[in-house]
Amino acid sequence: MARDPRYDILFDSVRIGPVTAKNRFFQVPHCNGMGMSYPNAMSAMRQMKAEGGWAVVCTEETDIHPTGDLSPLVEGRLWDDRDIPIFASMNEGIHRHGALAGIELAHTGPRDACLYSREVPLGVAHTPVSAGDYPAQARAMDNADIQAFRRWHREAALRAKRAGFDIVYVYCNAGASLIGDFLSRARNQRTDEYGGSLKNRMRLLREILEDTRDAVGSTCAVALRYVVDDQVGADGRADLVESGEIVEHLAEFPDLWDVNIRDWARDSTPSRFGTEGFQEEFVSFVKKLTTKPVVGVGRFTSPDTMVSQIRRGILDFIGAARPSIADPFLPRKVEEGRIEDIRECIGCNMCVSADFTMVPMRCTQNPTMGEEWRKDWHPENIPAKSSDEAVLVIGAGPAGLECARALGQRGYEVTLAEARSVLGGRVDQECRLPGLAAWGRVRDYRVQQIQRMANVQVYLGSRLSPEDILELGVANVILATGCTWRRDGVGRWWNTPVPGLGAVQVYGPEDVFAGSPIEGPIVIYDDDRYYMGGVLAEKLRHSGREVTLVTPASDVSGWTRATLEQGWIERRLDEVGVVVVEKHAISAVAPGDVTIRHVQTGRERRLPCRSLLMVTMRLPADELYLELAATPDRLKASGIASLTRIGDCLAPSTIASAVYAGHRAAREIGACDIQDIPFKREMVTV
Ligand code: ADP
Ligand code: SF4
Repeated sequence: MARDPRYDILFDSVRIGPVTAKNRFFQVPHCNGMGMSYPNAMSAMRQMKAEGGWAVVCTEETDIHPTGDLSPLVEGRLWDDRDIPIFASMNEGIHRHGALAGIELAHTGPRDACLYSREVPLGVAHTPVSAGDYPAQARAMDNADIQAFRRWHREAALRAKRAGFDIVYVYCNAGASLIGDFLSRARNQRTDEYGGSLKNRMRLLREILEDTRDAVGSTCAVALRYVVDDQVGADGRADLVESGEIVEHLAEFPDLWDVNIRDWARDSTPSRFGTEGFQEEFVSFVKKLTTKPVVGVGRFTSPDTMVSQIRRGILDFIGAARPSIADPFLPRKVEEGRIEDIRECIGCNMCVSADFTMVPMRCTQNPTMGEEWRKDWHPENIPAKSSDEAVLVIGAGPAGLECARALGQRGYEVTLAEARSVLGGRVDQECRLPGLAAWGRVRDYRVQQIQRMANVQVYLGSRLSPEDILELGVANVILATGCTWRRDGVGRWWNTPVPGLGAVQVYGPEDVFAGSPIEGPIVIYDDDRYYMGGVLAEKLRHSGREVTLVTPASDVSGWTRATLEQGWIERRLDEVGVVVVEKHAISAVAPGDVTIRHVQTGRERRLPCRSLLMVTMRLPADELYLELAATPDRLKASGIASLTRIGDCLAPSTIASAVYAGHRAAREIGACDIQDIPFKREMVTV
C-alpha cells in the first residue's frame, strides 16, 4: 500500500549540520539494560530500529571516562579505543539501512558512585552521590579537572567519529550530567569563571560544544540534549528558570537541539498520568529561538499527532524512545500505509524497569525486544509453520491472544476459544481501571491482526471443559487460562492465611472488576506491591468510600519505582484521600476492624474495616491443564500430541511476561531442538 499523502511531511529529509536524516523519525537516546554488558544484543536491537525505518538511531548514555563510571547501571561505554569495535559494527548495520547513528556522550558527575572504577566522582561542588543514596561524595573540580574533562570529552568525540557515528551528543541535564550541574543555578555555587553569572555557568557547556565541533564537526553533527524544564518550582530549587535565556544564548551552537524535561518520571510519564504529546507545553518555545532542527518526545504513536507537531512548528523531528521499542517498524508502517499494524506503546514503562533491574530490556507490546540477537527474533518476521498440525489455544488474555496471533502469522490453523464474551482477559478488565485505558492496546493490536487472518477462528463464550478438548482432538493444545487472586492474605509477608478472616467481608480484585458493591470503610491489604493495590484504592475512593491501603512494603506500590510510576501513584492517592499505611501487615481480623502490625517493631493497632480487599498474590487457573495432563492415554487416544500451559496459568506474572510466553510458545511449537539454555549468551573472551 502507498502511504497516505497527509503523512508525506514525516518523510521529508532534514539536514543536521554536515549530515542529512532521510525522514523525521528519530530514535532518541534510551537505556536498554544491554549496553556494555550485552553489547551484541544492544547492537542488534539498534540495527532493528534502522531496518524499521528510523532515520536516526542513537545509543543510550555512554560514559566517557572512569570518573564518570555509570555502573552498576548497564549503559554504553567509550573509555578507550577497545570500546570502538562493537559500536563500529553496530553503525555499519545502521548505515546499511540508510539511517544515521548517534551517540550520547555522558559524564554524569556526582549522580553515580563509580562503583566499578573506584575513582573519586567529580562534581561542580563537593556533593553527595545521588544514585542509591550511596554513602560517598563527589569532590569539587578545580580548573585542572575541568580542563581534563574537556580533553576526555574531546577524545571520546574523536573515538565516536572513528566508530562511524554521524551525530555526537553533548549531554546537559542538571542532576544527571556534569555539564548540566555547571549550568544549574542551584548546584553551581562556584566563585571562579565557571560559576556565578549565567555566562559563567554556561561556559563549560559552550566550551564542550565548541570542542566537539572542533574535533568532529566537519563530518559529524553536534547535538545537544538539553532539559528545558525541571518543574521544581516554588521550593526554590528551580534552577532552569533561565531555560529561555540559555537556549537563546546557545541557539546556533549545536547542529541539533534534543529537548526534554526532568526528572525521568516526567520525561517518560507513564500513560496512567500523561497523554501523547505531553511535553509540548514545555518544549515548544525552543524552535522559536533557533534555526537549528529540534527533536522532542511525547510517546508519539499517532502519525496525525506527529504531523500536527511538525506543521505547528513545535518539532522538526519526532523523537521516540518507547514508541520505537514497542514498534521498531513504526516508520516503515506509516510509509507503507499500514497504520493499523502499528503496535502502539501502552506507556506501562516495563521497558524502563530493565534499567533498574539491569537486565536486557523487555516490552509489554513487543515480545521480541531484547531477543533480536540472542534468540534471533524479528519483530515483524517469523518462520513459516513447520507442520500442518492444527492448534487449539484456550484463553484470550495477553498470552493466548499473542500466541494465536503469532501462530496465525506462521500459517497454522488456529482455534482460539475464550470463556468470556470479550477478548483480552486481564487486560480487558484492567484497562477499565483509572488511567489504564491505553493498556487496552495490548488487546486491540492483537485482536485487530487476528481478525484479518482467515486461518484463525475465534470462539467467544466458549468455556471449554476437559471433555470438550478431548472431543475436539486438535493436535496441539495450548492453555492460557490465566489465574485468580488469592483472598486469604498469603503473599510475600504471610505464608499461611491471616487469622480470623471469616469476621469481615473479604474481597479480591475480581470483585472490583465485576462492580460488586463493596461497603466502606475498606481496608486494602496490598502485599503484591505493584500497581494493582494502588489503582484499586484510587478507583474505590473515587466512588466516595473510605479507603485505607495497608502494605508491608516501605512505599505504596513499591515496585512501580522501577516503572517510574511510584511518585505519581503516591501523589494521586494523597490527592484523592486514600490513607496509606506502610510497613504494616494485617495480623488479625475481627468484626468491624482489622489489626495491623508494624513489620519491624511489632507494634499493633486497629483500623475500622467493613470490607477487606486482598491484593497479595495470584494462583494459576490450571485445573484444566492438571486434569488433562493426568490422563496421557486419553490425550493420545483423542489425537492430542502436545499439551502446553503458558502465561499466568503457568505462573502469574506481568502482562509483558504473558505476551512473551504466548509469542515464545508460537515460535517453539513443533521445535525439536529446544536447548537447555534457550538463547545465545554473551561471553567475555579470555
Ligand atoms: P494471561 O495473562 O496468561 O493471558 P488472562 O487471565 O489475562 O491470562 O487470560 C486468561 C483468559 O482465559 C481469560 O479471558 C479467561 O476467561 C479465559 N479462560 C479461562 N478458562 C477458560 C476455559 N476453560 N475455556 C476458555 N477460556 C478460558
Ligand atoms: Fe511502551 Fe510499555 Fe513497551 Fe515500554 S514496555 S515501550 S512503555 S509498551
